[in-house]
Amino acid sequence: MARYTGAECRICRREGLKLFLKGDRCYTDKCAFSRRGYAPGQHGQGRKKLSNYGLQLREKQKARKIYGVLEGQFRKYYERAERMRGISGENLLKLLELRLDNVVYRLGFGGSRSEARQLVTHGHFLVNGKKVDICSYTVSANDVITVREKSRASEKFKTFAENPKTLPAWLEGSTENFEGKVVREPSREDIDVPVNETLIVELYSK
Ligand code: SF4
Repeated sequence: MARYTGAECRICRREGLKLFLKGDRCYTDKCAFSRRGYAPGQHGQGRKKLSNYGLQLREKQKARKIYGVLEGQFRKYYERAERMRGISGENLLKLLELRLDNVVYRLGFGGSRSEARQLVTHGHFLVNGKKVDICSYTVSANDVITVREKSRASEKFKTFAENPKTLPAWLEGSTENFEGKVVREPSREDIDVPVNETLIVELYSK
């Protein structure tokens, strides 16, 4: 499974906002963006105004990094979104939200999407009773995600149970019960990522 292995804080600094890629650390004063809120590199503090293309490119990169998806896979999501009914940009975000690693993160199993992704690839979750360790697996409405029996006693899952998250309206369940359910597919209003999907569509439509 290919994934980005560079410094995550550089991504926030490059995109010019906190993307909360490192879990708890993002809420402390160790956050690199809070300390140095300008782009990384020698010319980071002297950035020029971006062209239209630059804006579109940055928006796409931001969405990719938030969900931890590589370029080729992201384009495939876009092509899939285009073939679906409705607005392509919204479909794209919906597909990204429905990735198993994102759903696990949203359910509160993992302080960041990358932690949730690791838990999925290590085989800690079942979808409708069957083990699924593919982080890009697309969940559907009414799917039930549970923590594997063997994993429940681990310190990590105990910590998640003690610190439940507020769930988005399209999910239900609790870390205490080691279970979550996709009540329905998310709408655009449910997706709180700071991404302007229209710019991504404009970029790929060229
Ligand atoms: Fe981004 Fe979190 Fe790093 Fe801050 S600590 S720069 S929010 S990844």
